Amino acid sequence: MESLTVGLGARSYAIHVGADLLTALPDWLKALQLPRRVMLVSNQVVAPLYLSTVECCLAAADFQVLSVILPDGEASKNAASLEQIYTSLIRSHCDRQTLLVALGGGVVGDITGFAAATYLRGVPFVQLPTSLLAQVDSSVGGKTAINHPLGKNLIGAFYQPRLVLIDVKTLQTLPARELSAGLAEVIKYGVIADANFFHWLELHSANLRRLEQEFLIEAVLRCCRIKAAVVAEDETEQGQRALLNYGHTFGHAIEQLCGYGQVLHGEAVAMGMLVAARIAERQQLCRMEDVQRIRELIAACGLPLQPPSLSLEACLEVMLRDKKVTAGRLRMVLNEGIGSAKLVEIADPGEVFAVALAPEL
Ligand code: NAD
Ligand code: MG
Repeated sequence: MESLTVGLGARSYAIHVGADLLTALPDWLKALQLPRRVMLVSNQVVAPLYLSTVECCLAAADFQVLSVILPDGEASKNAASLEQIYTSLIRSHCDRQTLLVALGGGVVGDITGFAAATYLRGVPFVQLPTSLLAQVDSSVGGKTAINHPLGKNLIGAFYQPRLVLIDVKTLQTLPARELSAGLAEVIKYGVIADANFFHWLELHSANLRRLEQEFLIEAVLRCCRIKAAVVAEDETEQGQRALLNYGHTFGHAIEQLCGYGQVLHGEAVAMGMLVAARIAERQQLCRMEDVQRIRELIAACGLPLQPPSLSLEACLEVMLRDKKVTAGRLRMVLNEGIGSAKLVEIADPGEVFAVALAPEL
């Protein structure tokens, strides 16, 4: 097992990464003196796979265990699921001495975190992320949210977990397409922050896709280190944290225009990263050789390269509604070579994207 800390003063917490860690949960909870009453939150796909393991080890260690099982999928990241959690808590007379534990992917983690932030004005919570995306991204950093019918993640809070326990063995049951989608965010960390890690991924993407444990642990750990460092500097996204949105400006447009669920988030990010790299090359922030390496790594991870044919006008409209737009000016994260990135204002988005989306010679 490997560990790191997200350094946020009194709200600092540990992330442990390893294999077979789920059953270590009771020991960690005891060490942190967290409440002995635990509400586990999972979903209909993950619960049959892992919930009883977690329930049994907690019960064996004298914890009082309750559980809620939400419907699966992004469509359930809504007020109804949140209410399902609140209702279970209230019906079971849970007071502030209750720990919420999220067991699942990013959807379960985000909803559970928001429930923890708001139930009785805040109860402690722990993340047991089971998808690659949740392990390298959503479980770390304290962004919690649910969707609103008018938009994704519009209702939420910054609320940090007390512990993140990452068991890479859970990835064995993750569908291959979801694994690849998680790898898009993994590649992102290499491009924006760590050239050595990017090179390591070029060497080992096949090991990761074959779910070889030591490689998974290494990759998850390196991503969490990068995210933890960014979050420790900029918890509430005033500056540096925005760099984590590399590939997401165009990615969000693809996701939204294709309809959520058609293209997975990570797939959209992969296509968005390639567009960003092509724009960076045209702005002389990186070389064509860097674009080529990014393209090859995306392909090696089983991710799509070519965005679906969408109207440029529709894409621009979505991008200009993005959170990073100020006074009508589009800003996006561009890579500087490989291993570094910056936020750049795009003076003429129409022209820039027309070029970036044009078929390559
Ligand atoms: P998800 O939670 O929907 O999981 C993807 C699918 O895999 C689901 O069907 C899930 O049930 C299933 N699954 C999860 N673990 C499994 C396992 N071990 N075995 C078999 N199936 C498993 O989606 P996701 O990609 O994990 O997360 C996406 C969500 O995360 C989005 O809602 C996004 O907004 C959010 N997110 C949040 C942050 C943040 O900082 N809070 C960052 C990135 C993404
Ligand atoms: Mg993302």
